[in-house]
Amino acid sequence: MLSEQIYKGEKIMVNCDDCAQEMNNSKTTTCTAKYLIAKYPDGTIKTWERKSGFLRPTGDRCGDCNIEHKPGTVHHFGCSLEFCPSCSGQLISCKCWEKCDLYVNDKPQLPEGAD
Ligand SMILES: [Zn+2]
Ligand SMILES: [Zn+2]
Ligand SMILES: [Zn+2]
Repeated sequence: MLSEQIYKGEKIMVNCDDCAQEMNNSKTTTCTAKYLIAKYPDGTIKTWERKSGFLRPTGDRCGDCNIEHKPGTVHHFGCSLEFCPSCSGQLISCKCWEKCDLYVNDKPQLPEGAD
């Protein structure tokens, strides 16, 4: 998840919890936790590849999480500009994940310590 500080637009050093990269470093072009993993109450696990999506021209930076907009890059988890891979809506506000716990990981499996 993104920290509060980024939402307030403050320029402080902050790392993404999921990929451990510094979000305001220009060398960080994408979140490397490319999979979305949903765990349902009955124990079912489903994985998706996170959607690479942006509303701005290639080469721009995301105003929220500072990843580079180009094919194949994904936002840091929690960014308001991330698209849902299931419904293509806004990930943080769509209804797809209401009944499950949602995680991201660099492998298509639950991150360590998730259960
Ligand atoms: Zn990240
Ligand atoms: Zn973003
Ligand atoms: Zn959705």
